[in-house]
Amino acid sequence: MNLAQLLVRAAHLNPDRPALFHGTTPTASHGDWLARAARLAGAFHAAGLVPGDRVVLFLRNHPRYLEALLGAWWAGLVVVPVNAKLHPREAQWIVNDAQARWAFVTADVAPAPFDGLERQIDIETADYDALLQAPAEPVTDRAPDDVAWLFYTSGTTGRPKGVMLSHRNLLTMGLTYFVDVDPVEARDAIVYAAPMSHGAGIYAIPHLMAGARHVVPASGGVDPAELFALAKVAGPLSMFAAPTIIKRLVDHAEATGEPGEGFKTIVYGGAPMYAADIERALRVMGPRFVQIYGQGETPMVGTALSRAHLADTAHPRHAQRIASVGVAQTPVQVRVAGPHGQDLPTGEVGEVLVRGDTVMQGYWRNPQATAAALRGGWLWTGDMGALDADGFLTLKDRSKDLIISGGSNIYPREVEEVLLTAPGVAEVAVVGAPDPEWGEVVVAFVVPQPGAALQADALDAHCLAQIARFKRPKRYAFVDTLPKNNYGKVLKTELRARLAA
Ligand code: AMP
Repeated sequence: MNLAQLLVRAAHLNPDRPALFHGTTPTASHGDWLARAARLAGAFHAAGLVPGDRVVLFLRNHPRYLEALLGAWWAGLVVVPVNAKLHPREAQWIVNDAQARWAFVTADVAPAPFDGLERQIDIETADYDALLQAPAEPVTDRAPDDVAWLFYTSGTTGRPKGVMLSHRNLLTMGLTYFVDVDPVEARDAIVYAAPMSHGAGIYAIPHLMAGARHVVPASGGVDPAELFALAKVAGPLSMFAAPTIIKRLVDHAEATGEPGEGFKTIVYGGAPMYAADIERALRVMGPRFVQIYGQGETPMVGTALSRAHLADTAHPRHAQRIASVGVAQTPVQVRVAGPHGQDLPTGEVGEVLVRGDTVMQGYWRNPQATAAALRGGWLWTGDMGALDADGFLTLKDRSKDLIISGGSNIYPREVEEVLLTAPGVAEVAVVGAPDPEWGEVVVAFVVPQPGAALQADALDAHCLAQIARFKRPKRYAFVDTLPKNNYGKVLKTELRARLAA
């Protein structure tokens, strides 16, 4: 089935119900959205695009993002959403790699034309409106394994790779949301604060399934005051965000004394959420949170830590559970394996493997990388973790972040969890630095809370009281901020490079 059928179903049920919003302003009903998608499909086909052709989306968050997305699917095309914060040169690389024919852009994000495209349409110009004059077409048939979305990985380890996500992958992801994350009703809304080219945009699918509303903040991004104000009028409001964004929301809630009226569910994932941070989030904003763990290769679907598990403070293993990423989501199996794929006993750390209908079709034009990631029917995630007896997965670190000091394995995450509980610590990132004697030594980059005067001695004592001596940092670097990528993930490669320099 073509994902565009979801729009047909929603629009036939409730043609006049508002679907797309820019801030609080409605920009399209479900019926309008359907008409625009069907006409965009007509324009694509009239220009000679055929099913399977790639269309790049390189624009800031915008309600028309969703029109273009559904229009492309309607015509049987493959969308290539590109992170709006990439440098145009990096985006050009993706345009070339995807062999895209058209791109939809906004001028702020793509000020100059890309090379090699047949057309580049600024969605805020008359060019876009002209496309909507084309005759409407019926939805193009698609097979379940046909590619719908080429999802370029953030490329923290080399060139980005195009993850081929099929209609079946994304339909399964959408249905799973209702079971493992949150039931959605037509009265609900989702707000796109994080980039729509990534997880936040992927969550359009379950909300389209439910016939819910889609809200793009007027600012197009993350402004806690704007989001809190929107939640009050546009709620029940859900959103997806990385832990660094959650932290900003919680800071705002704490500073204003507003717990977040109107927010229904805030899904977090994409990077580690430390136990101390989620405890504070729950204390300040209440039981609005659900965690997911996934990756582009199995979008938003790996494990989930439910609202109920987060709230179950009486459980004897609550402390471990909130530091975990929860249990396997319904359509996938998750296991932890040794280097040869053998199952490891409960509690042992190995690579996390995932199998199920959300797992990608492979990497676009990259059979070598595909063969490395998909082995024996399983997706090798590159994440290291351990399962407990109840099936809760605790992530350690990417294998490349592991520190080996004096022959002992040290997982930076464990040290970071401890340092974050020390008074005056706002943020921390732990990496290994080359060392002639130990191979590597543990170094902690620490961001103090405003006004806090941190001392290495005090942090050292704090660590000694809680973790093995060999795991504690040998050095501390006090910094104002941590380098992060566009999704809010700390760039440990950059920290390691600083140390090497
Ligand atoms: P991406 O493919 O860009 O979404 O990045 C996926 C990677 O982010 C995963 O392989 C993990 O390393 C990390 N990640 C995703 N979700 C979580 C989570 N809930 N906790 C910790 N790390 C996560």
